[in-house]
Order: sequence, then structure tokens, then C-alpha cells
Amino acid sequence: MHIVAIDGPAGSGKSSVSKAAAKKLGFGYLDTGAAYRALTWAVLENKMDINGLLAAEIAQKFEYSISLDPENYWVKSFGVDVTEAIRLPVVAEAVSQVAKDAEVRLYMKELTRTLVSGSSLPGVVVEGRDITTVIFPDAQTRILLTASEEVRLSRRSAELPAGVSITEMVTKRDQTDSKVVDFMTPSAGVTLLDSTELSFDETVDAVIHLVRDLS
Ligand code: C5P
Repeated sequence: MHIVAIDGPAGSGKSSVSKAAAKKLGFGYLDTGAAYRALTWAVLENKMDINGLLAAEIAQKFEYSISLDPENYWVKSFGVDVTEAIRLPVVAEAVSQVAKDAEVRLYMKELTRTLVSGSSLPGVVVEGRDITTVIFPDAQTRILLTASEEVRLSRRSAELPAGVSITEMVTKRDQTDSKVVDFMTPSAGVTLLDSTELSFDETVDAVIHLVRDLS
């Protein structure tokens, strides 16, 4: 199986680029941020209390499933379709606190690897913050997708509901997240793809090119 690992900050276009690249390649698409968001949703909805839990205990209690089909994306937790709910600002504001817990991260590592290995796909584009470094450091293709801060903020502001502060939602979250994992500088062997000057289609093509050339 060909694993395409893509990391990057909020607003880098990671999710939409990864999904489009997966479609073109005939690969699966795995959004790893969705699991952190769904766990945060479960905590906020009082379906889970993760305080002091070990990774194995989280695995026992947390009910989670996600589609790897880039044509049909959905996320479910505790029998509820949370595809929309996990995008709410209240989840985005709390997710970094959940994501910095070492046992949560250990659980996510197992979860991500199991989801990928359990699929019978020819390849999977896996996107997140620590995929190139921690989750799949041996992936056939490893990319760090960035864009200038100005471009990232303007891309994200187009997606945000009116009245939500862009600084709160993006810059602060990136700052908190980058204390836990470094997704701003590529580690050895990871290709830096800067999309500042590229259109969406050009960025997707650049990813496809890397997958075909480096494999
Ligand atoms: O990518 P997305 O913005 O949906 O990720 C939501 C949050 O999940 C991030 O802000 C980060 O705290 C966490 N995350 C992570 N490692 C990943 C993916 C996401 O810590 N691989």
C-alpha cells in the first residue's frame, strides 16, 4: 500500500488538497484531525471523561468511525453523525487541549495505523500534524504543505462563520499545537510544498507529481 503523509498548519489547504489528490490517485483519504475533533466533541457532550485515562482505556470507551472514501466523507461517534458538529467553533477552541495529552496521542497513533492497515485500498492520503514524523515516518511520500501566514488566514476566513475571530480560530490554535508537534519545518526526507503562489489545482498536481516521482 502506498501511504502519502501530508502535514501542515491550519489554512494550508491540507484537507481539501489531500482529498482531491486522493480522488485523482484512486486512493483513500484519512483526515486525522477529525478523530481529535470527535473526541473533543465527546468530552464536551459529556459522553467521555478522558482525565487520567490510558490510551488503551480511551480505545475501550471511545466509539469512533470515519469514512476513508474521498467521494463520501463522514465521521461518526457514539452512534451520532458528527461530520458537521466537529467543525463548530466550540470544538475548534477546545481541541488543542485534548490533543496535547500524551495518552490521547498514543491512542490516535494506534487508531490511525489500524484504520489504514485495515483498509484494502491501493493507497491512502493521510493528513494531519504528525503524520510525516510520528505516525508514518516510513511513508512512501511525505509532504509538509505550507503557505504564508497571510494566505492561510485569508483562505480560512472564507470558511469561518461570521463573527468568529480568525486569530482565535487559527493563529492561537497553531501556536498551541506547534508546542506539541513541529509541523512548520520539514524533518529529514520530507518535501516542503509551499502553496503561497499556487492555485488549488496546481497544489493538487504538485502532490500527484511527488507521489508519482518519489515512489
Ligand atoms: O486538521 P484539523 O484542524 O482538523 O485538526 C484539529 C486539531 O487536531 C488540531 O488543531 C490539533 O490539535 C489536532 N491534531 C493533531 N495531530 C494530528 C491532527 C490533528 O494534534 N495529526
